[in-house]
Amino acid sequence: MKCMMCESLSLTHICSSCQEKFLQPQIYKRNIQNTQVISFYKYKEIKKLLHTKHTDLGYHLFNILAKNSFQRFAKEFQYPYKVNSIAIDDKSNYAYSHTAILNKHLKSKNIEPLFNKLRANNTVNYSGKSKAFRLQNPRNFQLLDVNFNEVILIDDIITTGITLNEAILTLKQNGIKPLFCLTLADSSEANK
Ligand SMILES: [Zn+2]
Repeated sequence: MKCMMCESLSLTHICSSCQEKFLQPQIYKRNIQNTQVISFYKYKEIKKLLHTKHTDLGYHLFNILAKNSFQRFAKEFQYPYKVNSIAIDDKSNYAYSHTAILNKHLKSKNIEPLFNKLRANNTVNYSGKSKAFRLQNPRNFQLLDVNFNEVILIDDIITTGITLNEAILTLKQNGIKPLFCLTLADSSEANK
């Protein structure tokens, strides 16, 4: 096949030299309710790749992005014991869940990913919607069958922070401490 970025022949959808050149993760930090949110890319840098989210191609691209960011982070992550990670919206409404792909790549010495633990009872699509609309239509998260008291929270994109804010609140109401959040891309005003 051809690399999507440089069109040279490649075994993967993005060749290794383009991954090296364009997908080096950075650390972008935000804070929600005293919980640190770390993102690895600016949204605008990987916008085109993220637009494939609900296609077969998106499956491959999310795996490539997750390998370059979440997997590297997990390898470096030091903690005195093993902690769990859970993802927002990891129920697949297409053939796969993009946040489950990200979460899966955290599996490492100190992180054990868990799946289908945080269910959104309201699945309204936030894409392109205003902050007011998002506030009026909360996700109504529900925690399912959990037996941990601290956790790493995963989402794919942080925009207004409303979704993470609600998820963090749900965790706290259930006596669970969010250690920090990880998102693939930060889409705040400057990074759009
Ligand atoms: Zn390339």
